[in-house]
Amino acid sequence: MDNNFSAKLLKLRREAKLSQKQLGALIGVTDRAVSKWECGLSRPGLEACIALAGIFKVPLDELIAGEKKKDTKERSAMASLRELYRMGPGPSSSHTIAPARASRLFLEKHTDAEEFKIILYGSLAKTGYGHGTEKAIKGVFAKYPHKIELDYLTTDIKHPNTMDFFAIKNGEIYDSLRVYSTGGGAIEAEGSTDGGDKPIYPHKSFGEILCYLKENKMTIPDYVEMVEGKEIWDFLGKVWTAMKDSIERGLSADGVLPGGLDVHRKAKTLFTRRHMDETAETRENRMVCSFAYAVSEENAAGGEVVTAPTCGASGVLPAVLKYQQEKRGFSDKEICRALATAGLFGNLIKTNASISGAECGCQAEIGSACSMGAAALAELFGMDLEQIEYAAEVAMEHHLGLTCDPIRGLVQIPCIERNAVGAMRSIQAVNLANFLSDTRKISFDLVIQTMYETGRDMSKIYRETAEGGLAKLYQ
Ligand code: SF4
Repeated sequence: MDNNFSAKLLKLRREAKLSQKQLGALIGVTDRAVSKWECGLSRPGLEACIALAGIFKVPLDELIAGEKKKDTKERSAMASLRELYRMGPGPSSSHTIAPARASRLFLEKHTDAEEFKIILYGSLAKTGYGHGTEKAIKGVFAKYPHKIELDYLTTDIKHPNTMDFFAIKNGEIYDSLRVYSTGGGAIEAEGSTDGGDKPIYPHKSFGEILCYLKENKMTIPDYVEMVEGKEIWDFLGKVWTAMKDSIERGLSADGVLPGGLDVHRKAKTLFTRRHMDETAETRENRMVCSFAYAVSEENAAGGEVVTAPTCGASGVLPAVLKYQQEKRGFSDKEICRALATAGLFGNLIKTNASISGAECGCQAEIGSACSMGAAALAELFGMDLEQIEYAAEVAMEHHLGLTCDPIRGLVQIPCIERNAVGAMRSIQAVNLANFLSDTRKISFDLVIQTMYETGRDMSKIYRETAEGGLAKLYQ
């Protein structure tokens, strides 16, 4: 089914200020049929397409053309939330968790090798030092002779986070594997499904999910449970515990973060230093930011965090949830339901667009985290499905174009502060969604497609290479 057609029809109908019922009446079909076309669940026949082209005064070819920009990603089925929320050491899921997983995958199959060679390309080579990639790989191959090479020059690679593994015996390479780190700790091995995420969700877009939920009168957490099984709540309980632990550790730590940039930890100061004339709004800002700083500083120090959806953006979601739990007394069970909703949106972005800074800039990391944070809050506050979608959409829309330019390749500046700002923006997005979801024109599916295309059009110096922006100009 052509994704563009559904989005185009929805846009044209809204521009014409017609309800699904009114449009259906004009061409002799039910509002349900129109809804299915807009959700991508079915496609009108030629006669209906001709009628639609006439109503909207657009050429038929333009309406039904299945044109796809070269950088548009095909929608795919999503994997489990267990592949999205990963617990592991910072500072970068794509540069530490994924390379360590790829290393283990290769090592397990070549325990008879006498030595190993690993070549890192693209962003892994350019920011691998600051992001701790070599350290993560060395940790896996510690007991074996191995050599890691950084290849800055090869550009003909399928993904900006590419690594090659070679197994060597008797001085000869006898096997090799190319692996891509696709964001949030996920990996794809070339020519193999080993280590990759297994799709389990039946629907491929939020539009499809929304139709299904409305038809079956379900909530998003119920849908997640239906697909993942009841065991998902134990898993999300562990995720929430790990998130709270990272906040606690970050709030009690002092000192300077590693890496040589002389960045001092600030979470504790933010948490404890009351403003001299503190309003409720100032306190909210200070608390939420202190939680986001706490997780992000733990991440920068190589501590355990949860990818939400990545390590670099791991501070946003825990910060907004922790604040609301303390302020309004939400139970852990309610927080887990909010994590399920946030996870579904993060999963859609991961699958249909990208959560990788190396692929699409920081809009894919902090933008996605903000979107997840807004969706989680909307779920906690009991908003309806349209409002939840709108909150997630607004949060992403206003991160479009955000570059990734970490100074010295460390996940510190601008990353830590950006987590705090992202958390505050989640709150703003959900406040807007509370009032304005009826008038929205942009769907969540459309905004993440836009994010992906924007990211692919972005110069590579702004995609986690530390070659542009702050990374270039900071002295
Ligand atoms: S700038 Fe954003 S995408 Fe880049 S390393 Fe920092 S948090 Fe990650």
